[in-house]
Amino acid sequence: MNCRFSDYVKNILSEKQWLIEEDKLEENRLLSRESIFSLSNGYMGVRGSFEEGCRVSLPTTFINGIFDKSETFMRELVNLPSGISIRFNIEKQRLTIDDQKVLYHKRVLDLKKAILVRCVYLKDKDDRITRLEFIRFLSRASIHCGLDRIIITPVNHSSILEMENMIDGGVVNFADAPRFKVKHFKVTRNESLTRKDGLYLECKTRDDGLSVGCATRIINEDLNNRQFNCFGEISSEFKDLKITKGKTYVIDKYFVYYTQKDIAKNKLKKACLEELDKLNKRGFDKELERHIKVYENKWKQADISIVNDDELNKAIRFNIFHLMSTGKEFDNRVNIGSKLLSGEEYGGHAFWDTEMFMLPFFTYEFPDVARNLEEYRHGLLNAARLNAKKTGYKGARYPWESADEGSEQCPDWTIYPDGHAEPCFVAKYEQHVTSAVAYGVVNYVSTTNDLEYLKNQGLEILVETARFWASRLEYNRKFDRYEINDVTGPDEWHEPVNNNLYTNYLARYNLKLVLDLLENYRKNDRSTYNRLCKKIHLERSEYVAWKEYIEKIYLPKDENSKLLEQFEGYFKLKDVVIEEYDENDWPIKPKALIGIDRETTQIIKQADVVMLMFILQEEFDLETTVENYHYYEARTLHGSSLSPSIYAIMGLRVNDDSKAYRYLSRAANLDLKDLQGNGREGLHGANMGGVWQTVVFGFGGVSNIDGTLHINPKLPDKWKELKFRINFQNRCLEITINKKISVRRIKGKKINIFVKGRKRAI
Ligand code: BGC
Repeated sequence: MNCRFSDYVKNILSEKQWLIEEDKLEENRLLSRESIFSLSNGYMGVRGSFEEGCRVSLPTTFINGIFDKSETFMRELVNLPSGISIRFNIEKQRLTIDDQKVLYHKRVLDLKKAILVRCVYLKDKDDRITRLEFIRFLSRASIHCGLDRIIITPVNHSSILEMENMIDGGVVNFADAPRFKVKHFKVTRNESLTRKDGLYLECKTRDDGLSVGCATRIINEDLNNRQFNCFGEISSEFKDLKITKGKTYVIDKYFVYYTQKDIAKNKLKKACLEELDKLNKRGFDKELERHIKVYENKWKQADISIVNDDELNKAIRFNIFHLMSTGKEFDNRVNIGSKLLSGEEYGGHAFWDTEMFMLPFFTYEFPDVARNLEEYRHGLLNAARLNAKKTGYKGARYPWESADEGSEQCPDWTIYPDGHAEPCFVAKYEQHVTSAVAYGVVNYVSTTNDLEYLKNQGLEILVETARFWASRLEYNRKFDRYEINDVTGPDEWHEPVNNNLYTNYLARYNLKLVLDLLENYRKNDRSTYNRLCKKIHLERSEYVAWKEYIEKIYLPKDENSKLLEQFEGYFKLKDVVIEEYDENDWPIKPKALIGIDRETTQIIKQADVVMLMFILQEEFDLETTVENYHYYEARTLHGSSLSPSIYAIMGLRVNDDSKAYRYLSRAANLDLKDLQGNGREGLHGANMGGVWQTVVFGFGGVSNIDGTLHINPKLPDKWKELKFRINFQNRCLEITINKKISVRRIKGKKINIFVKGRKRAI
């Protein structure tokens, strides 16, 4: 049988280089694929689960910023009632992959148009074959709306199709883990939307009593015999349709969400209804057109095009796609969780992943999103102050995991699959997130020139974070030096340690930059300086004293070589190195680790010293960088997705170009090939930012040195051309690198930049 997409669906799809295609249904991959095929429009995110459901599935619908704790450990994104649900039956046989024989399956994520398309041929027990096709998108033009066009073709039968359009309020968080399963809301309304059609379900989060409304409506004139049913937490609308062999039937399903964060509680239903009415008027095609237009503009800005490396280029686009889909340009109360909006792991919390990995992408591509991310940190400064105070320090200490109200959301316990619990010390020891926030402010400001943000918000963050470090440092009289003991650096496999080099350097960086900045404001903008000092009770003597800390902070290193020591005592640990790599070029756990505690060895989880050399490049000469890169590379197992991209960029810096390319290829395919093995829990947002940085900062050679743009590209031999756009200090520049390097100014005033060290006015 010749199974395939209908011409209509085929014609909607973009060119091959924009399509992530799945041709086979593999049960063991269903969950990780749900992550890959998730969609987000900044406001909400829906995993790529099937509309009609299937046994192996973890459907989630998140609205960024809607958190709840209830009896779990932390505030986590609430898995909200599912608006995509719809069921079909033919003579009591349900059309799902579990109930019928699958003759054909294809699922495609169209990156260019941000649509998820699927085609499945199902054969029931009576040999009836039915083709179902779906075109789903979360409108970026109307952010409260999701749309799904369902095209049904009875291939060899004429029957009565029974349809149940649903809003499924029966969903829970962690549905497949009974130990953690939790219901974060109560259904408060479940009703017909109007007397004639549609459904409305309202729920309320359990801790904050925050209401969320969801409405859905089906568009098809030929559907008959409507019946509304309220099955407890499920809202359902029955309709049927006579279908004739070979004919094609189109059913459009719209679903919309509003929350009390958007509008008053008593207006939720009305807002949903109005939104549906607008969709009705416009229709599916028009809304799709509007949605694609928004993406067209987004891609115009953020696309990276590479000539002569199509598969890798597609993988890079996949990473950009998910990042830019999740970033929100219209809300400064939310951040971006480490799993974006594609999975439940880490509860939707923001980590240092934001500032160190994702923020550069947004700063250079979508500065309005970056500004929101920065404002989010300022909005939660008081919570960070409280966090510092609670833990015995001054200033502001940002939480390792941050949700909506800024308190520490990293759980104190880790529960293992067998149920035993062990204390989790990450929040206690992993303090470097505080300097990551400071680093983010500085980089955002110097790339965008948003001095207004610096003056009114950023500066306050910088001073308060520096204050934290000043109070955190311990004086060691014996050695006349300042130390930071009991911390965990980026490498989480050694916990806690004393004087983690990364943490100490970044604390010093935080203190130093504030000292310089404050003196600058004192001399050049006295009123801002005075206002800030008054607001946060700052005396000059307080920060001038930081000079001594900066000079005397302990930075461990090997005395006989250029090797930097990851933390005090690291070189005394058992030396184990990686010797083998698997077929995906991933390091194989060394046999020497079997039976011993890896904490007693030099094997590390992720870039730590190498991360430091990436962040504070100017502090290390090339020889030091080369020596340390090779030393630590042979000992890094990349147990975190935050690692490969950093090794890619640094590989280029130490002239190990082929290794850099291999690392880029691993990072770009990390989710697509589920290289980390945990794809079912959601996508890896930080890695996605790392992929972008590898191409633009690494191969593209873009850097911002003291507020001036430099471009020093280095392309792999294979690439005939690399082209991308960046925003820099209110200009938009298009950079094309082939045999030549051309920089075209698309927007903004003339600017002086350096291309391969030579000054150019663009
Ligand atoms: C990594 C952290 C990271 C976190 C969230 C952990 O596995 O070690 O560096 O911030 O995941 O992505």
